[in-house]
Amino acid sequence: MQSVETVKRDIRKLKTDDLKKFFIDHGDKAFRAVQVDEWLWKKSAKSFDQMTNLSVATRELLKEHFAINHIHVDNMQRSADGTIKNAVTLHDGLIVESVLIPAETRITACVSSQVGCSLACKFCATARLKRQRNLSADEIYDQVAAIKEQAELFFNRPLTNIVFMGMGEPLLNYSNVTAAIEKITSQKGLGMAMKRITVSTVGIAKMIIKMADDGVKFNLAVSLHAALDKTRSSIMPINDSNPLSELADALKYWYQKTKRKVTYEYVVWKGINDTPEHAQALLKFCKVIPSKVNLIEYNPIDDGEFKQASDDILTMYMDLLERNGITTRIRKSRGKDIDAACGQLANKS
Ligand code: SAH
Repeated sequence: MQSVETVKRDIRKLKTDDLKKFFIDHGDKAFRAVQVDEWLWKKSAKSFDQMTNLSVATRELLKEHFAINHIHVDNMQRSADGTIKNAVTLHDGLIVESVLIPAETRITACVSSQVGCSLACKFCATARLKRQRNLSADEIYDQVAAIKEQAELFFNRPLTNIVFMGMGEPLLNYSNVTAAIEKITSQKGLGMAMKRITVSTVGIAKMIIKMADDGVKFNLAVSLHAALDKTRSSIMPINDSNPLSELADALKYWYQKTKRKVTYEYVVWKGINDTPEHAQALLKFCKVIPSKVNLIEYNPIDDGEFKQASDDILTMYMDLLERNGITTRIRKSRGKDIDAACGQLANKS
C-alpha cells in the first residue's frame, strides 16, 4: 500500500501560476506563490518549516497538500586533495553520486544524470550498475544546489563550473538535463553562466544534431577514447550502432550551427590505443571540426583489465597533437582515494 506521504504532489512540479491559483482557491494571496517559489529554488528549501516568512497556518496548508521531493545528501566523503563526494538519496530511495572538485581558480560540480547507465563502456565503473531510471530535472538541479552550498560552506568560494560527467548519459535524458540547466542558469534559480556548463556524452549522433537544432548554449564534450572504429567498438559498445563516421557528421552539423568547438576526452590505455596509428587517427578526427583534447588519467576500477599507458606514450600523443595545432591538456584525476574520480562512481559506500 502506498503511504499518504508518497501520494502528495511534489510542489516543485507546479508552475508559479498553478501555485498562485492554489493560494487564491484557499483564500490566501497570489503573492504567496512568489515567496514559495523563492524558497523552493533560490534558497533550495527542503521543508515547509524553513519558509519562515509564511505563517504557521500557511505552512500547515502546504504540508497537507504537497511534498518537497528534495534529494538528501546522506553521506559526504572528503578526499585528501579536497574533493568531496556526495552519496545522494532520491525520494524513492535510489542513490546517485555527485562530486565537488576544488581547484585554484575554480570549483566544479560533477553531477549525475541517470541512476546507473545503459551504455556498458568497458572501462567505467558506473556501467556495472544497470540503468534504473532517469533523474528528474529537480534531482539534477538539487545536486548542483547542494554542491554550491558546500563550496560556500567549506571553501568560502562560489561554485564556478558544472560538468555532466557523473553517472549516466546526459543525452539519453536530454529533456530533463536541459530543463535543469534552464533552471540552474535562470535568475530565479542559481543564476549561473551557460558557458560554465559542460555536457559530456559518449557521442550519440542524433542527439548532437538535436542539440545543434535547439541552439543550446552550453559546452559539448565527447568521450572519444579511440578514433578507429574497431578499437572504439571494442571498448564502447555504442560505437557499433553509432560509428565514428556518423559522429563526425553530427559534429560537423553542430559546428555549422553553433560555431562552437568540441572537447574530446581521451584515455590512453596500454595495449588498447597506445600506437602511433591510434594517435594519427585522433589527429585526423580532431580536424573534423575545431576541437581540443583532454588526455584523462585512467582511474582503475578493480579488475585491472585496463592499464594507463606510460608517460612516453602520452608524450607521443601530446607532441603529435600540439605540433598540429590541437590544444591538448593532460588532466590529472581528483578524489581517487574516495572513488570520486571519472568513471569510479558506483555507489560503493
Ligand atoms: N556518459 C557521459 C558522462 C559520464 S562519464 C560520457 O560518456 O561522457 C564521464 C567521463 O569519464 C567520460 O569521459 C568517460 O569516458 C570517463 N571515464 C569513464 N570511466 C573512466 C575511468 N575509469 N577512468 C577515467 N575516465 C573514465
